[in-house]
Amino acid sequence: PAAGEDVLEIREVTMRFKGLVALDAVSLTVPTGQIRGIVGPNGSGKTTLFNVVSGFYRPSQGSVVLRGHDVTGMAPYQLSQRRVARTFQNLRLFEDLSVRENLLLGLDRTRTFWIWRYPSLPWKVLGYEQALRRRAEDLIERFGLAEVADAEPRSLPYGIQRRIELARALAMSPTLLLLDEPAAGLNGEEVRQLAEIVRSIRDSGVTVIIIEHNMGLVMSLCDQITVLSGGKVIADGRPAEVAVHPDVVAAYLGD
Ligand code: ADP
Repeated sequence: PAAGEDVLEIREVTMRFKGLVALDAVSLTVPTGQIRGIVGPNGSGKTTLFNVVSGFYRPSQGSVVLRGHDVTGMAPYQLSQRRVARTFQNLRLFEDLSVRENLLLGLDRTRTFWIWRYPSLPWKVLGYEQALRRRAEDLIERFGLAEVADAEPRSLPYGIQRRIELARALAMSPTLLLLDEPAAGLNGEEVRQLAEIVRSIRDSGVTVIIIEHNMGLVMSLCDQITVLSGGKVIADGRPAEVAVHPDVVAAYLGD
């Protein structure tokens, strides 16, 4: 996308679950090449927003516009074909495959869809695509995973599993990357490395939206922050502006 263009525009999105309004006419615009933070108390609608943008939920009202095209109600695999990638709050790696195979799957979007649909089939038949293999090795190198490439994710420390998930999301060559609490469970050094990786992803031209509770990380990493509370946007601006916004202080500290 051209510089200055908006990658994502959320227009008046409302998401209802029975009686509960998880998102209440939320609008926000994310320009190309930004790291946007989404913060807010538990239950404020952050993950629901990601589920709407990545196609896991169809909004009750409103629309999702990706690079000028209305993608409202598209399925997750269709959005992944349009180069939207995400990570999950709880890791979702393929536990029976090696780290390398997990990355190969990330590189192979069509197959990833079928494996996601039919996880119990014998999918361990990835022995051909040379170009994909080369790209997987690049990711292994870039994310410092060489020593663990043949291991199964579950045998590895949590911080490394998080890094694998990020590498796999990036394997899809996304233009929009959604990270759901990527620093959860990481130690200080791992958080520092994560920040560096996310900046390098942004600098390579990928727009990043990040849900995160670690306010130190959010404040230092994000170009712009949107604050949700009770399903509504209560503040939006640069980190320094948002930090002193009275509604934000109230939402975090209680009235
Ligand atoms: P956050 O990520 O900010 O903690 P969520 O988006 O997970 O908040 O949740 C917002 C509200 O929507 C919560 O009250 C939650 O219980 C509700 N919610 C989210 N997903 C569903 C669902 N699939 N069915 C019913 N309620 C849901």
